[in-house]
Amino acid sequence: MSFTRHKHWYFLIDCNQFFVSCEQAFNPKLMKAPTVVLSNNDGCVVSRSQEAKNIGIPMGAPLFQILDLVKRHNVNTLSSNFELYGDMSLRVMQTLSLFSPDIEEYSIDEAFLKITEDDPIILAKQIKNTVHKHTGIPVSVGIGQTKTLAKVASDIAKKEKDGVFLLSGDADIELKKIPVIDIWGVGKNIAAGLKSYQIYTAFDLKNADDSYIRQKFSVVLLRTALELRGIECLSFDEIPKSKKSITCSKSFGRPVTEIKELDEALSSYTSRATGRLRKDGSVAKVVHVFLTTSRFKEDFYYNYQILTLPFPSDYTPDIIRCAKNALRKIFIEGYSYKKVGITLLDISPKHTPQSDFFDNVDKDTGKKNKVMMVIDSIKDKMGKNSIYFASEGIQKDWEAKKELCSPKYTTRWDELLKIKI
Ligand SMILES: [Mg+2]
Repeated sequence: MSFTRHKHWYFLIDCNQFFVSCEQAFNPKLMKAPTVVLSNNDGCVVSRSQEAKNIGIPMGAPLFQILDLVKRHNVNTLSSNFELYGDMSLRVMQTLSLFSPDIEEYSIDEAFLKITEDDPIILAKQIKNTVHKHTGIPVSVGIGQTKTLAKVASDIAKKEKDGVFLLSGDADIELKKIPVIDIWGVGKNIAAGLKSYQIYTAFDLKNADDSYIRQKFSVVLLRTALELRGIECLSFDEIPKSKKSITCSKSFGRPVTEIKELDEALSSYTSRATGRLRKDGSVAKVVHVFLTTSRFKEDFYYNYQILTLPFPSDYTPDIIRCAKNALRKIFIEGYSYKKVGITLLDISPKHTPQSDFFDNVDKDTGKKNKVMMVIDSIKDKMGKNSIYFASEGIQKDWEAKKELCSPKYTTRWDELLKIKI
C-alpha cells in the first residue's frame, strides 16, 4: 500500500445508531440495553441499538409487528426527538470542523472531511475520540483516496473493533471481498446487470474495461469504477444521497447579506431536495434549516431551526414555505453568510397513509401530486433548469463560481476536447 502519491484523503465520519446514541448520551439507563427510536406517530423503527439488532428487531419494522419482542426483552421504545438530533448533529459537525476546513455534511449523522495527512489512521482515532469526548456520540471512520472508497471503508469500519478502516485503491484483497451491490450508487438493477458480465466484486468493477462499462451501463458507473481506482471524479450532484435524511446545501460564491438571496438559495436547494424525495417515492415530515457565516471570520454565527410539517409531504411549494419560515427565525441582519442549507428528516415511504394525530389527511394531496408529476416530467425531458419556482430566483448571483473548473473531457459529451484544424 503506498501513501506517498496522493495529496489528500477523504474521511467519512458516520455516527453509530445516531438517534439512539443521542438518547443514550443523556440517559445512561438506555446504554447496553435494547433501545429503538420510532418514526412520526410512533410508526416504524428508524434507529436501533446494537442490543436491539441482536434480538432481531429489523430496521423499518412497524411497532405493532414487534410488540412481542418488545415485551419479551423489555425494549426501550422512544418517539423521535428531532430537535435533540438536530442539535447533536450540529455539535458533531462543529467538532469535526476542528480537524479540517474542508467539511461536507452528507446527512444528519455523516460528513466527509478532506485532509492531507501522513498517518490517516492515527488521525481517524483522534477524531473518533474527540467527537465522543465532546458529544458522547460514538462514530466510525472510513478513509479512502476518493469519496466512494471512503464510503466503502466506512461500511467496513462499522464492523471493526476500533471503528476505523482505511481502504486504498491498491487494496485489492479488500476490494475482492466487497460485492458490487455494497458500492455507493450501485443499485439492485445495476448489480444484476453487472452479474451477467461476470462483474461481482468491487475489484471486478475497478478493473473492468472503461468503454465497456460506459457502453453497457453509464458514464456514472464508469466514474464509480474510476473512483475505486483512487481517481476522484464524482461531482457534488452525483454523490448518491443518504435515504434517512436528505441534505442540500452549498457554500455561496461570495458572502451573502440579504435575506432575499438567502431565500432564493434555500428555495433552490429545497426544490432539489424535494425532487430527490419524490424520486425515492418518499415523504418527509421534519424540515431542518441551517445558516452559517464563515468559521474563519471573527464573529462566527451558526444557527438552525427545525419545523414540523402538518402532514408528511413531498410537495415542493409547501416545503419551500416551511423552510422560508424557519429561515426567518434564524436570520440576523448584518452578518455576511457563507452557506444556507436544508435537511429533510423523518422520511417515510409515500404509500403509507399520511395523516396527523387526529387522522386528518391533506385533502389536496391528489392535486399536489399531479402538479409535481408535471414539473418532474418537464425537468426529466428538458433538463433540470427548464422549469423552476419563482422563489428560486433567476440571476442566482449567490451561486458558487465554477469558471475555474476544467471541462470534464472524458465523461461529458458537451465538454469533449475540441480540436481546431
Ligand atoms: Mg450513522
